[in-house]
Amino acid sequence: MVDSTWGTGEPPRDVLGPAVGEPAFDHDHPPRAEQVADCVHCGFCLPACPTYALWGAEADSPRGRIYLMGQGLGGEPLSDSMVRHFDRCLGCMSCVTACPSGVRYDRLIEDTRAQVERRHRRSPRERALRAAIFALFPYPRRLRLLRAPLRAYQSLGLQRLVARTGLLPRLAPTLATLEALAPRLRGVPRPPRRVRARGTRRAVVGMLTGCVQSAFFPDVNAATVRVLAAEGCEVLIPPGQGCCGALSVHNGRRDEAQRFARRLIDTFEHTGMDYFVVNAAGCGSSLKEYDELLADDPAYASRAAAFTAKVRDLAELLHELGPVAERHPLPVTVAYHDACHLGHAQGIRAQPRALLRGIPGLDLREIADPEICCGSAGIWNVLNPAPAAELGDRKAANVLATGADLLVTANPGCLMQVAAAVQRHGGTIALAHTAQVLDASIRGLGSAALVPPNG
Ligand code: SF4
Ligand code: SF4
Repeated sequence: MVDSTWGTGEPPRDVLGPAVGEPAFDHDHPPRAEQVADCVHCGFCLPACPTYALWGAEADSPRGRIYLMGQGLGGEPLSDSMVRHFDRCLGCMSCVTACPSGVRYDRLIEDTRAQVERRHRRSPRERALRAAIFALFPYPRRLRLLRAPLRAYQSLGLQRLVARTGLLPRLAPTLATLEALAPRLRGVPRPPRRVRARGTRRAVVGMLTGCVQSAFFPDVNAATVRVLAAEGCEVLIPPGQGCCGALSVHNGRRDEAQRFARRLIDTFEHTGMDYFVVNAAGCGSSLKEYDELLADDPAYASRAAAFTAKVRDLAELLHELGPVAERHPLPVTVAYHDACHLGHAQGIRAQPRALLRGIPGLDLREIADPEICCGSAGIWNVLNPAPAAELGDRKAANVLATGADLLVTANPGCLMQVAAAVQRHGGTIALAHTAQVLDASIRGLGSAALVPPNG
């Protein structure tokens, strides 16, 4: 199947054998031929690709996947092999950052995934798993229902008991992955619908509470609201806002993502907000593409474009506004992890670092290989637990090597993934969202609020 040109810097001549059956793609938004043609096969993206690092196979590199898309456009059928290589892509967009030719791999893989979801028949097990994931994760209310049993499971010592038996990974590997990723839950009241700015009002911001963020990291949302208010923002948090559609669009479920997007626009567009602020990197990157997602919808295209123009990541907005709230010293050593959908997809790397460096006493350290994904990637770590754990282990080793007391990042998936990997390593490091660090400094809570004295 793999010919001798693979791994030599040349694109493979033939990877899937002769065409049998229908062409891979239909005419409903196939990957664009001109974007495929932008790839000059230079291979600069290969060292940045986590799946190429894992398996060393051309077909699991950005260049190889683009080649497969080209084969599909040329009439090759959508074989199981082709789909497997597309499925293995984390969608981390590290290759987009690395590519000197400006190839829009993000657009290519999104269009390809939508074709795969419509045109490829998955195995019954895969269909059932994906159906279960998409019946749960994009629904904050359903996720919140899990909080009470999960808290009981964690606080009654059942989690330790189950871990000691070692049975869960063997009997139910997916459940074991979810169980390992679940953060320790604490009760935090839900934020009110409207929070006034402290001092002079500088902006009115709508805020996305998110699905996983609101169910499992409500303290991150609470910190976000406090920081925004302290920086002079009036914060609007309408209830029932639902999912932003990020998980759906990143997994080829475009129709579902469009439904979520329309609902979110309906909820926020008449609130009078100046900005729409997001504290989860994965959500932010898809919100910034609502104009593309709804471009063909005459009722929503211009509204989506207006909405997109207001979307800001939390760090991006705070940096744009400039600080007004006093920062109190926070003597803590921080390793900052670039979430892929913040760094690669939104190009936001300097702003969170500048905000952290603005805190007196905070020592900021860099993590080696920052461009490589931690293996979380939305639901990729649930669908691919073994390679995700390997990427998580590599990231955990690099994080622990910084000697930092606190790992800071801006995505709930990364927090869960790195926490689980650090635990597997037998290491200890406290974890926090950028908002929680700023909140602790502004409120003068001291480093013990983020890094418990016993580690
Ligand atoms: S998005 Fe990430 S995993 Fe996918 S091809 Fe690009 S670098 Fe590799
Ligand atoms: S995607 Fe960009 S970096 Fe990768 S092989 Fe093609 S042109 Fe080169």
